[in-house]
Amino acid sequence: MNPELAREINRLLALTGAAVLVALFAGSVWPLPAALLIYAGWHLHQLWQLYRWVAGETREPPDNSGLWGALTQRLEQLFKREAQGRTHLENIIERARDSVNALGDGVILTDATGHLEYWNDAAAHYLRFRDQVDLGQPLTNLIREPRFYRYFKNNDFDEPLEITAPADDNLVLQFRITEFGPGDRLLLVRDVSRMRHLEQMRKDFVANVSHELKTPLTVLRGWLETLGDTVPEEQHRVHRALDQMNQQSGRMQALVQDLLLLSRLESTDPQEQKAAVPLRGTLERLCEDARGLDPSRNQTIELEVADDARLVGHPGELESAFGNLLTNAVKYTGADGQIRVRYWQDADGAHLAVEDNGMGIDPAHIPRLTERFYRPDNARAASVGGTGLGLAIVKHVLLRHNAHLEIRSEPGKGSAFICHFPPESLVSGPTVVASG
Ligand code: ADP
Repeated sequence: MNPELAREINRLLALTGAAVLVALFAGSVWPLPAALLIYAGWHLHQLWQLYRWVAGETREPPDNSGLWGALTQRLEQLFKREAQGRTHLENIIERARDSVNALGDGVILTDATGHLEYWNDAAAHYLRFRDQVDLGQPLTNLIREPRFYRYFKNNDFDEPLEITAPADDNLVLQFRITEFGPGDRLLLVRDVSRMRHLEQMRKDFVANVSHELKTPLTVLRGWLETLGDTVPEEQHRVHRALDQMNQQSGRMQALVQDLLLLSRLESTDPQEQKAAVPLRGTLERLCEDARGLDPSRNQTIELEVADDARLVGHPGELESAFGNLLTNAVKYTGADGQIRVRYWQDADGAHLAVEDNGMGIDPAHIPRLTERFYRPDNARAASVGGTGLGLAIVKHVLLRHNAHLEIRSEPGKGSAFICHFPPESLVSGPTVVASG
């Protein structure tokens, strides 16, 4: 038995025994209830002392004895352990808060309704949040940029969002959102101004160099042509040299043109100059041009597109993308090869496929083909000409039309380059279109 309980029972028995003795001597029963009353009063006193301490009315624990003393001691230990645990947790939270505040990136927490719950120092600095005032405010009230509003409400956080900081036009901020718990969101905010600035410098540099090279190259080619006409026929070596110079300067000119086109694609607003492009005429012209590229190869180029097929887009850009695909098909398909250009529409949108039965591409290279200057086989590509920028241009044009490029290929059997346009690109309702 618990020693305190045993002592308590002994105490009660002793008191009752003493009361019985006094009652016998006094010849009255009153000492008995009087003793029990004193005992109950003593317990009440101990309980009251304990209550006042637990309720925080007294700082020191009561000096109780017996079972009450043991109970007080146990409670004291429990409170101490709880206080230690709380201090430990507070230290952890404090350290986590300090480390999050030490981050150069902004961290913001919002609840399921999109109201601000927490932000660190960097977030306060980037977004000028004010302590206490902004706590609990809807985040979209504090960042009023419409693109941010759509991004935050759309719940599609696969890609980060970049916007100019609301209070500082020189600051470009990148937002990444992660959802956790039931609708809670963690937002990471990074200052990407320097990166964007460097990227812009790179683009400007490439665009400027390409632009500056344009005129000297035109002059050079003009003079080469004049020289070719003036040098006597019998000077074969000079003619060979002039031919080679002509060929190489032609490549450089094509490269400069492609670089200028790429930088234009990167720097202008894709929404500008969009129109319903009549496809048949454009594709017929491109096929005709492709047939003229190397008539000695005797390739067949077939076109399947409805007479009235139209696509919403930028006419020049689309022509450039489709032209690149066709030129490639001609370049990488041997003699007597077959090339087919097909356009059709369905519920998923519009599709343009350029298929050939040429040399095909090793699957390992397919994911990287649209990178600038990426060529699986440099020697072969150099021998067939081309700048190494064709598919990069196609990819950029399609991106600007919210479209994407699918590449299917089997080495030795041929390739299919398919441009998939979203339903918004259709001019009228989806109709399956095919004709010869
Ligand atoms: P370029 O043709 O100037 O080298 P592109 O960007 O147009 O540059 O194409 C990149 C590479 O993709 C080419 O070097 C070639 O290896 C491959 N390629 C493109 N189109 C085809 C095709 N129709 N068949 C086989 N390979 C192709």
